[in-house]
Amino acid sequence: MNKGEKHRAPRSIAIYVHIPFCLHKCGYCDFNSYALDTLLEKDHAGQDWAASYTDVVIQEIAGRCANLSLSGRPVESVFFGGGTPSLFPVEETARILDTIRRSFTPSASTEITLEANPGASDVERFAALREAGFNRLSIGVQSFDDETLRRLDRIHTGDDARAAFRSARQAGFSNVSLDLMFGIPFQSPEQAKTDIESALVLAPEHLSAYELTIEPGTHFGALHSRGELAGLPNEETALAMWEMRDRLLSEAGYERYEISNFARPGYCCRHNLNYWKRGEYLGIGAGAHSLIGDRRFWNHARPDVYAKEAKDPAAGEENITNKRKALGESLMLGLRLREGVSLREVSERCGTDPEEKYGELFFNLEKKGLLERSNGNIRLTHRGTLLANRILAEFL
Ligand code: SF4
Repeated sequence: MNKGEKHRAPRSIAIYVHIPFCLHKCGYCDFNSYALDTLLEKDHAGQDWAASYTDVVIQEIAGRCANLSLSGRPVESVFFGGGTPSLFPVEETARILDTIRRSFTPSASTEITLEANPGASDVERFAALREAGFNRLSIGVQSFDDETLRRLDRIHTGDDARAAFRSARQAGFSNVSLDLMFGIPFQSPEQAKTDIESALVLAPEHLSAYELTIEPGTHFGALHSRGELAGLPNEETALAMWEMRDRLLSEAGYERYEISNFARPGYCCRHNLNYWKRGEYLGIGAGAHSLIGDRRFWNHARPDVYAKEAKDPAAGEENITNKRKALGESLMLGLRLREGVSLREVSERCGTDPEEKYGELFFNLEKKGLLERSNGNIRLTHRGTLLANRILAEFL
């Protein structure tokens, strides 16, 4: 330890808690989530499945704190994601949050988010979550159009989504995010526009609006590979939807701070910002991933296997001591942000000069109008953002 390090305060971490249960599996979903009736009711017959899962999560928190010397670390953000965390009994959610509070050092300003789905979102539940300490909700709306929701296999309606938002406000949440999706089979550009406008009527503090991607291993993926998924927009229509989304949200005063994320001033999602800036995060729960120091590790995905291996639920681990790999990851994640990446900061953090490995790629992207530089920063241009998936893959 050198002199400077001696007095350095421990860095904050972000904590993610995965609640992998849903009422039903949506056709496009590649998240680690399980419909309750297909997995848990069989495996936990006669037991309180939520209390059992909570016990394992609490056991994991204690183990990680001890083994990774994380006890007492300041916490920038806590995020309960899924799955459908709003489906989980509030008393169990609160028990996990209390354990996090006692094990780490959150502050009054720590962002504490819970993902909610319309349909598992009444005022009483939200009020109890607020009481437990949550200060941000992220509601999975996807669309306000009932026919579009049905095509996505969602089990709520547009009115349920509006009701969930109103419940959040009534329960006292002043920081609410809505998730929308576009590029859905048979969705017209006008319908995609109506979805954005319907979200804007509610005036959330934050909006995520993603283009639907067809992932292998999902029901949609299987249909697509057999050529049976009809109605997907062509590239030109999808690009028009991207442009429309950016224009409408910008006109309404939302800043696009990441490729698919928009916020009113002061309401960017701090939890995800930490991830895109490649900060440290601890993932707790089935299938959760962590990055602590140079170590990346991930838990068993299936909740029953995760529970059996509760003492050490890691299913795999990677030591990222290769500076070039850390550099590629930092650029790939950081270029998702509107502010881009400071080459000096990345160079200091990764211990290697980005120009050495990627100078030629930067130059070529700049020449094509996909990347711009200013004051030692690089960032994607508007055109580069539209082609982000292809460009960012070059840093892997
Ligand atoms: S509600 Fe969300 S996590 Fe659950 S199956 Fe649908 S998309 Fe996946």
